[in-house]
Amino acid sequence: MARVQLEGVTKRYEDVTAVDDMNLDINHGEFVTLVGPSGCGKSTTMETISGLTMPTEGTVRIGDRDVTNLPPKDRGISMVFQNIALFPHMDVYENISFGLRLRNYEKDEIDERVEEAAEVVELEGMLDRMPDEMSGGQRQRVAIARAIVRDPDVFLMDEPLANLDAKLRVHMRTQLQRLHRELDTTIIYVTHNQAEAMTMSDRIAVLNAGQLQQIAPPLECYNEPANLFVATFIGSPSMNTIEGEVTSDGFTSNYGNVTADFDPAAFGLNPGQSVTLGVRPEDVYVTDLVDEIAHPTKPIATRSDVLEPMGDEIFVYLVTEDIEETGSMEEGSDPGEILMSVDPDSDIQEGQDLDVVLDRSKLHLFDEDGDAITHGLVQTPSAGAAGGTEEVEGDD
Ligand code: ADP
Repeated sequence: MARVQLEGVTKRYEDVTAVDDMNLDINHGEFVTLVGPSGCGKSTTMETISGLTMPTEGTVRIGDRDVTNLPPKDRGISMVFQNIALFPHMDVYENISFGLRLRNYEKDEIDERVEEAAEVVELEGMLDRMPDEMSGGQRQRVAIARAIVRDPDVFLMDEPLANLDAKLRVHMRTQLQRLHRELDTTIIYVTHNQAEAMTMSDRIAVLNAGQLQQIAPPLECYNEPANLFVATFIGSPSMNTIEGEVTSDGFTSNYGNVTADFDPAAFGLNPGQSVTLGVRPEDVYVTDLVDEIAHPTKPIATRSDVLEPMGDEIFVYLVTEDIEETGSMEEGSDPGEILMSVDPDSDIQEGQDLDVVLDRSKLHLFDEDGDAITHGLVQTPSAGAAGGTEEVEGDD
């Protein structure tokens, strides 16, 4: 069994705290991805798991063993990194089997393991190729096969696909998912690529400034982000965030006439409280299409500013009317700007006046510290559920 646990792991470098009191509990067989912006501590977290770095404080467990003070070779792990280093003078067979030969495995066992590993990464028939006769993706698969033959309890993969072109990356993504299914091992994966994190992982751990922000299945991070950081980091383009305050009958924005009607008491909110409203571009609708949603806000008067046709959808940057009038849109920041995603066959033009509504069942509210208060602002006033419980009416 290869459960991986980090308990209160902190890693300090002089004045930098690279990892700050990290607690992670990864189950045997899980595929967990660490995501976050550059410098947030992903690699350092991986290094504390692999043993390449000793934590300043805290405990690392693999299986039921405390491995905090064990060297990498005694931890039952295999690593695959972004910069693969195959031995250029060795063919594929020799590269894959290198570690086993070093450990004096029997020839028959080496052959069997190499064959199995080559099959998993679909390199059968290429065992006598030299690295310079292979594509980037094939070389990366050799590196993965080299990790597989060691039959590790845990795979640690740090940006293993980062150097591949986009098409190959997508292909390798599927291969890694297949590999995970076939091997029944724990995989801990690092990437800054959201699509990779969202598509492959059982859970993603979102890090910022060395601190764990949320660990949850990808769609839960997307639909129920724990805080503003996760809300705006997960999802591309980002969630719209609209600063404002709680009123006696809901929310009103500081800029741009955005309102949402709800009973503040139902969410434990007090009028006058500063909050940030979050709404994803796909949850903004032109009022003509309002039939599509059960719980629209009141219409918001906007003008389409810039259109970005993406092929499968169009992103429309909307400027709210009062901002145009007051000119309160500041350079570099965009309070009051709302990004909307619409169907590719939409006939919206730049500079068009548009009334839009937001889907209240998909709105998010965050407090002054950025922590999520609720996801979904649909509630029957009579129910008066406290503490931000979402009650979605009907089956929308
Ligand atoms: P990520 O992998 O998310 O980009 P890292 O774990 O590499 O982040 O780095 C986290 C922070 O720790 C960064 O501020 C980085 O500069 C710092 N850091 C990492 N390794 C060292 C080191 N060996 N010495 C000093 N600072 C380091």
